[in-house]
Amino acid sequence: MDFALTDTQEAVRRTFAEFSDREIRPIAGELDKAGAIPRELLAKVGELGYFGMRYPEPAGTGMDVVSYALATEELARGSLSVAAACAMQSLMGTTFLHRFTDGALRERLIGAVVRGELLGTVCMTEPDAGSDLFSMTTRAAHKDGTWLLSGAKTWITSAPSADLFTVFARTGERALSVFLVERGAAGLVVGRSIGKMGVRASVTSEVSFENTPATALLGEQDKGTSYLRDLLAEIRVMTAALAVGTAQAALNDTVVYAGQRTQFGKPINRFGAIQAHLADMAVDLAAARQMTRWAAWRSDQGLPNAHEASMAKLFASEAAHRVCERAARVLASYGYAEEYPIERYLRDIRFTLIGGGTSEILRVNIAKELSR
Ligand SMILES: Cc1cc2nc3c(=O)[nH]c(=O)nc-3n(C[C@H](O)[C@H](O)[C@H](O)COP(=O)(O)OP(=O)(O)OC[C@H]3O[C@@H](n4cnc5c(N)ncnc54)[C@H](O)[C@@H]3O)c2cc1C
Repeated sequence: MDFALTDTQEAVRRTFAEFSDREIRPIAGELDKAGAIPRELLAKVGELGYFGMRYPEPAGTGMDVVSYALATEELARGSLSVAAACAMQSLMGTTFLHRFTDGALRERLIGAVVRGELLGTVCMTEPDAGSDLFSMTTRAAHKDGTWLLSGAKTWITSAPSADLFTVFARTGERALSVFLVERGAAGLVVGRSIGKMGVRASVTSEVSFENTPATALLGEQDKGTSYLRDLLAEIRVMTAALAVGTAQAALNDTVVYAGQRTQFGKPINRFGAIQAHLADMAVDLAAARQMTRWAAWRSDQGLPNAHEASMAKLFASEAAHRVCERAARVLASYGYAEEYPIERYLRDIRFTLIGGGTSEILRVNIAKELSR
């Protein structure tokens, strides 16, 4: 297959690249220190159309997965925190709203969601249910025509500022359903925010529900697992794109630094050891990008791609981690200093090893598929 981008895809990439260079990259360090992303910045991402890219018209623009991955990559080149929060909104936080609401509820929410005025998030993980989602204990009970949710979630991205919570809850022994809960619902508590190593501007918090009325059941009862499975490949392609964008930022900064830093009377990029780091970074990045585009392209062609998306996500996140690690070696003490962004990339990139399925879980899935 040919990975050449179409004119439209190239235009999307360029638009998001320019936006990232102008609006995100210059403030990425400040956002990391402040531990917050301004709503105005999210509204600007909304103006660019990112939050509606994957929704068909008229709510969105119905763009292909390759374009969505390109936009995600460029946002992540600016800041992984910002890109992760935006991807959460567009993919997990509001997809089920788009798929499964209609009438007045849809009218009220979907335009505001696409503009980035209302923020959505997804609540799956629990203190004792991470990779093993089926061990979740949050339950939903149907009483007098209303679904009431009770339980505790954790690691919920954007929870302190979220207006809408897409919540996975148990509705049977091996059955999960998906619910919409709105900020202000009785018994909904956004608890402690979790201090973390990286993606610090993208806040993650505990969220609990006590007999909390859901605004709506999203989709059919007990279908949560299959809805999640439908989305999993795209989540993995998107996480791979987050990793590629961060690795590109690390490589760009490292190439510039290695050309400017002089030791023993010459720029350090003249030393074989440094050249080897740069070369290995470029190879890892190119391979990660191609695998990500390949998995995205398969999605767009309607080809099976669960296995390919797992491989792309595993490779891209591990490769991007290696790229950021090498960047830190090239900058040495300045790779360890807060005044350079390399230490932030290295802290941030570890998130991509976890979100969208850990590397261990992906290896298990890939190996299972091989032995089928
Ligand atoms: C920054 C950040 C943001 C997040 N945002 C959200 C969010 O918005 N919403 C949400 O619901 N969740 C979110 N998460 C949670 C994330 O989805 C979970 O952390 C992830 O599913 C892993 O779960 P865990 O951390 O509990 O690890 P565990 O599942 O406890 O895993 C611990 C270790 O055991 C390994 N392991 C587990 N099971 C197996 C197995 N069967 N075979 C081999 N190895 C195994 C894992 O790979 C890992 O190394 C976020 C996490 C982070 C770090």
